[in-house]
Amino acid sequence: MYEVAVIGAGPAGASAAIFLAKAGKKTIVFDHDKSITKRAWIENHYGVSEIAGPDLIETGIKQFQKFGAELVREQVSSIEKDGDTFEIHTENGTYQAGQIILATGLLTTLAESLGLATKDGTEPRIKRIFEVNPEGKTNVPGVWAAGTAAGVSVHTIITAGDGAKVAINVISELNGERYVDHDVLK
Ligand SMILES: Cc1cc2nc3c(=O)[nH]c(=O)nc-3n(C[C@H](O)[C@H](O)[C@H](O)COP(=O)(O)OP(=O)(O)OC[C@H]3O[C@@H](n4cnc5c(N)ncnc54)[C@H](O)[C@@H]3O)c2cc1C
Repeated sequence: MYEVAVIGAGPAGASAAIFLAKAGKKTIVFDHDKSITKRAWIENHYGVSEIAGPDLIETGIKQFQKFGAELVREQVSSIEKDGDTFEIHTENGTYQAGQIILATGLLTTLAESLGLATKDGTEPRIKRIFEVNPEGKTNVPGVWAAGTAAGVSVHTIITAGDGAKVAINVISELNGERYVDHDVLK
């Protein structure tokens, strides 16, 4: 049983998983390797002078694995809510988690099995997004969304930032107080 399952290991999902795992939350990440970021050459991500999209993705994955989050490179076909637990189905297995963060990029296909509200995207070339409130909560308690799939501007610094924002809101809710993750320069 995981505390949080993140669907998507692009900038939004990986950034969320870094904060969750670093906060000691038992975290699992699912990804089926269809990130649009794989086609990007990035020169506008604050603090990184230039980087190829695939390298940004691999770095993000290494970061969350360093803090103990697990990665399952499989497609999530459906998610069902069973009381306070979510059953996550992939072609090879079923997993349980208490909270879900959907960071699925262009894809909102998981809305149906969860009964999630979606709406037309407002960003260029984005067809459909999950309806979320400013914290990143969807209409189903325990399900959150971040990044492109939650309607933010489709840029790595913003989608990664949104993933971090939502993760901090999930951690704060689980801890019952606002969470801060600051390391001090040694
Ligand atoms: C050609 C191109 C150039 C770009 N150049 C730039 C640039 O220069 N600067 C910039 O800031 N941004 C750029 N971007 C945009 C950038 O890639 C996106 O902003 C962004 O980072 C999207 O992040 P995300 O995490 O929301 O989605 P994604 O990176 O798309 O990640 C979503 C992940 O979810 C996974 N997923 C979805 N559904 C499931 C499921 N059911 N089961 C398992 N896994 C699932 C996918 O496999 C994917 O890996 C560019 C994009 C493109 C296409």
